[in-house]
Amino acid sequence: MYDLIILGGGPAGASASVYAARKQLKTAVITSEFGGQSIVSETIYNWIGTPEISGTDLGQNLKNHILYYKGPFLDIIEGEKAIDIIKNDNKFSIKTESGKTYESKAIIITTGSSRRKLEAINADKFEHKGITYCASCDGPLFADQDVLVIGGGNAGFESAAQLLSYCKSVTMIHRSDKFRADEITVKKILENLKFKVIKNAEITKVDGDQFVKSLTYKDKITGEEKTIPTAGIFVEIGQIPNVLFAKNLVQIDEFNKIVVDPMTQMTTVPGIWAAGDCTNGRYHQNNIASGDAVKALEDAYLWIHKNK
Ligand SMILES: Cc1cc2nc3c(=O)[nH]c(=O)nc-3n(C[C@H](O)[C@H](O)[C@H](O)COP(=O)(O)OP(=O)(O)OC[C@H]3O[C@@H](n4cnc5c(N)ncnc54)[C@H](O)[C@@H]3O)c2cc1C
Repeated sequence: MYDLIILGGGPAGASASVYAARKQLKTAVITSEFGGQSIVSETIYNWIGTPEISGTDLGQNLKNHILYYKGPFLDIIEGEKAIDIIKNDNKFSIKTESGKTYESKAIIITTGSSRRKLEAINADKFEHKGITYCASCDGPLFADQDVLVIGGGNAGFESAAQLLSYCKSVTMIHRSDKFRADEITVKKILENLKFKVIKNAEITKVDGDQFVKSLTYKDKITGEEKTIPTAGIFVEIGQIPNVLFAKNLVQIDEFNKIVVDPMTQMTTVPGIWAAGDCTNGRYHQNNIASGDAVKALEDAYLWIHKNK
């Protein structure tokens, strides 16, 4: 039985793992993969201490930092997904997708979030056939073509910035009148002559044959339906927290986020902490995920020793 099991291998999971190993807690980190969401980013400019780093390199650095501590105090279980947590007396049992069970005295959940899918007629049919959720992975396939970006938040503008360097045109489709992205980013992209914006649009349908050919939306002001030809649709409409496996145990809020005490990161169940994008913390960034996970670990460390 472990003292602690950390679920997730993004910035939060990596930080908790490093601190746990250094404090010589008998720990296992279980993650479907290492690196976290921003591995798809071309460049990250705000990982403190590193003015510029690619998402892939950041992900690899996080993984290397965990691997550095692999040994008597840290087991690394990669390619495994938690599907359930059961509490029995003074221990927790974590069930994984492969049918295994791991036991621990305490748990830190850092399973982050996944992309929200586009809901429109035929959207599922054209996934990976013109509809994509990763500009840096799939963008180059659409060089010199007209593409659409759905969503006007930071992720949408970041995708647009990447696509503008090789696509013929990029049109952003946004459901409301105001962007949710940082002003500095919005200003810079709006200056690009290849960039267009359609606001107050509700996407209704995607059409094509083998690949996407067009997208139809309803203008929310006039009610008029319009169809735009396009080769690629890049979807950036937010995230869904990965918390299903913990739903029956810890409190989850109306946005599907794990409720934590912001002082300690403890959930509503003593012995379970959560940090990063899977929590109801107000802001979500790499540095925040990492810092909150350290906070969780410090509190878990004291709790584990007190309950020995
Ligand atoms: C495109 C994009 C660009 C971004 N750019 C920036 C940026 O420039 N700067 C910045 O600060 N932030 C950025 N962010 C936000 C940042 O990536 C997140 O805030 C951060 O990754 C959250 O870290 P996390 O560890 O909480 O979760 P995640 O990074 O989501 O990591 C979750 C981990 O848990 C694993 N996992 C998921 N479910 C399970 C399960 N059931 N069992 C086991 N393991 C599981 C996943 O494989 C993953 O390793 C960006 C996000 C996106 C999507």
